[in-house]
Amino acid sequence: MQLRDPIAVDAPVGQGEPYELIPVLSVAEAEVDRQLHICNACRYCEGFCAVFPAMTRRLEFAKADIHYLANLCHNCGACLHACQYAAPHEFAVNVPQAMAKVRLDTYSDYAWPAAFGALYRRNGLTMALAGAAGLALFLLLALLVNGTLLPGRLASDFYAVFPHNTLALMFGGAFGFAVLALGVGVRRFWKGITPAETEAVATGAATLEASGAVLRLKYLDGGHGQGCNNESDRFTLWRRRYHHLTFYGFMLCFAATGVATLYHYLLGAEAPYPVFSLPVLLGIAGGIGLVIGPAGLLVLGYRRDPAQGDVAQRPMDRGFIALLLLISLTGFALLIGRDTGAMAILLAVHLGVVMAFFLTMPYGKFAHGIFRSAALLKYAIEKRQPDRLKLGSE
Ligand code: SF4
Ligand code: SF4
Repeated sequence: MQLRDPIAVDAPVGQGEPYELIPVLSVAEAEVDRQLHICNACRYCEGFCAVFPAMTRRLEFAKADIHYLANLCHNCGACLHACQYAAPHEFAVNVPQAMAKVRLDTYSDYAWPAAFGALYRRNGLTMALAGAAGLALFLLLALLVNGTLLPGRLASDFYAVFPHNTLALMFGGAFGFAVLALGVGVRRFWKGITPAETEAVATGAATLEASGAVLRLKYLDGGHGQGCNNESDRFTLWRRRYHHLTFYGFMLCFAATGVATLYHYLLGAEAPYPVFSLPVLLGIAGGIGLVIGPAGLLVLGYRRDPAQGDVAQRPMDRGFIALLLLISLTGFALLIGRDTGAMAILLAVHLGVVMAFFLTMPYGKFAHGIFRSAALLKYAIEKRQPDRLKLGSE
């Protein structure tokens, strides 16, 4: 099996004819292209996930198709363990690994501002610097405001350590920037995977289907409901369950912050709130999810077959999961110690970790959920359109 020459695509197509301008494929994209040509002839994995039905609608794979399919892949590993052309076969097909490499390129290439795209490639360093910067910022701020981090008289008085408006400004700014950067990035990705000649208008049914696939993590069920592969060809639903605990835990914590903001501005009630109040109960429920989910994902990640996915991206995966775990652990520590003299330091550490998460949100693993949701929406739109290959054969 020969690789299509990625350099030759800008060559003249004939004497006197204009140059055919097809974007040059990178090495990682050319590898996906090679493997998808084999898969398109084999089609054994058609029922596993959305990638294979989407693939069969194409005979050639342009850059846009490869970026789309790479983000549609959930890295479940099913097609690697089922593949008769995986290594040691000479075809060496490993779809999850090839897709993972291209996925990282798409996060980086479509990032906004473009210069920050490089942060994806040094994500371990980025996480460490953001963590250190977040912690240093809040510890210093606490020292500047109060002169010490351990004033017992400040127990239970969050805003004596950090004034509410200062926190609102800092976290509002960081979160607003993260949303903007991710929004612009995913919009650039959407334009990149939707060439001008194709239509991609979301109907209500397509949006509903894509939302269902995102919220249920449909394609982590292996296509047969028994789950994906992790360390072997044995199926497990635990990856899906831990993802759900992480995602819904995060959303509950987000809801807790939203409700607390309403309490503050609408009811004039200042934090900290009683344990049996809505913001704290939401935070506790979310925090439990954000402890069990990330801890489980970390354990599964360490046990994972290294052939699945791209091992070079594991620091990014682990850094992101560890940050989520730290948010919930420091949140619980603050809840337990908020009426003690250690409150100021517990608050500074928790806020520092949360700030590190916000700062790295648009340039780390968080992006995979956003890009994959966009790819699922494209899939739901595309499957409702006539298959051009079938139309051509009629
Ligand atoms: S991954 Fe392997 S078994 Fe599955 S469709 Fe591709 S070539 Fe066939
Ligand atoms: S790894 Fe899973 S999600 Fe990705 S292409 Fe293979 S079967 Fe589909």
